[in-house]
Amino acid sequence: MNKVAIARCLSYNKEDVERGIKEVVKYFGDHGNGLGNYVKNGDRVLIKPNLLLASKPESCVTTHPSLIREIIYQVQDAGGKVTIGDSPGGPNNLSYIKLAYSRAGIQKVALETGAKLNEDLSYEYVSFPNGKAIKKAKICKFVLNADKIITVPKLKTHMFTTFSGACKVQYGYIPGLEKSIYHGKFKEPYSFSELILDIVERFPPNFVFMDGIMGMEGDGPNAGRPKKVGVIIGGEDPISVDIAALSIINIEPNNVPYIANAVKRKLTTGKISDIQILGERIEDVKVLDYKRPGSYKSSPVANAFRVLGRFVTPFISPKPYPLSNCTGCGICEVNCPKKIIRIVSEGNRKRAKVGTFGCIRCYCCHEMCPNKAMGLKKFYQVSTK
Ligand code: SF4
Ligand code: SF4
Repeated sequence: MNKVAIARCLSYNKEDVERGIKEVVKYFGDHGNGLGNYVKNGDRVLIKPNLLLASKPESCVTTHPSLIREIIYQVQDAGGKVTIGDSPGGPNNLSYIKLAYSRAGIQKVALETGAKLNEDLSYEYVSFPNGKAIKKAKICKFVLNADKIITVPKLKTHMFTTFSGACKVQYGYIPGLEKSIYHGKFKEPYSFSELILDIVERFPPNFVFMDGIMGMEGDGPNAGRPKKVGVIIGGEDPISVDIAALSIINIEPNNVPYIANAVKRKLTTGKISDIQILGERIEDVKVLDYKRPGSYKSSPVANAFRVLGRFVTPFISPKPYPLSNCTGCGICEVNCPKKIIRIVSEGNRKRAKVGTFGCIRCYCCHEMCPNKAMGLKKFYQVSTK
């Protein structure tokens, strides 16, 4: 039976986070040497946060730097050498990655702790012999160079995959814009979820610490609202960590496409009762009013969607359109896998224009907009944009 530990943690104060991380570690065999059960002396350890885009910690888009700091200390106590790395969405260039590190507070943590920030943008083609969605993919070198991987996802709802947690954070192993190419190939959430699970199975993390102190609810992973959950969730199995997190935010795990697919792969039963929960009880930390994404589908609809997905998507899923605060920066244009967004001039200002046809509702535009200026309208709402 997989184990997941839940530690109550109500703030990002250093003392609270240190206590929370240590509590999780305690349940997985702390012998006074931090993460010594998972990291050996001299191991090159990758700490992989969620750095979706260059965003400040208080926006709750990225993993909070306080967790990264404490996890680094746990790894260093075990003798590991830490590199922090992620490949945000958008172009895979160093200036943007540096901006993401600095804005998320990760650069400061690296300076404090002596951890290295990954600046290697190279990748290698890796085979996925047992992959269901892919047999080969570009994977960032910083992932391949690590002896051990510790992922630190942020607890967020997600317009496309319903939830973004321990499994989805591994999508950052795919470099930059290559991610939006896959969105164009795997157009609906269930086929895309097979890709996520291929990555999870090919590169299982050694440990997961989920930042659930402040989550994001609603239309995440970028344009939702911060929401207090007050927990750090940890474990070895990313699927079990996600099932525990979903149970806390009151979302039926089987309504999340990649969990439903993981059940089909027999990687999990999808039931919280089949996971050994250590520390806080789910009932005691549950957040009943956690807002679901606008694209959320409950069981019967989710089941129908699984079969009819790509045929019904344009009719039932919200469509993106630019809001008045759109600056015409062009980030959505670059990230749209279907290339249906254009930047147009209107008087002396620019703005995005989304084509009438061809949108696959991948929400890359909504996810990557730095100004939260890509709105979503339901199929019954009329807009002239
Ligand atoms: S919608 Fe956002 S990403 Fe797209 S052009 Fe406008 S501000 Fe930039
Ligand atoms: S317009 Fe947005 S949601 Fe539609 S295909 Fe392009 S990126 Fe995806």
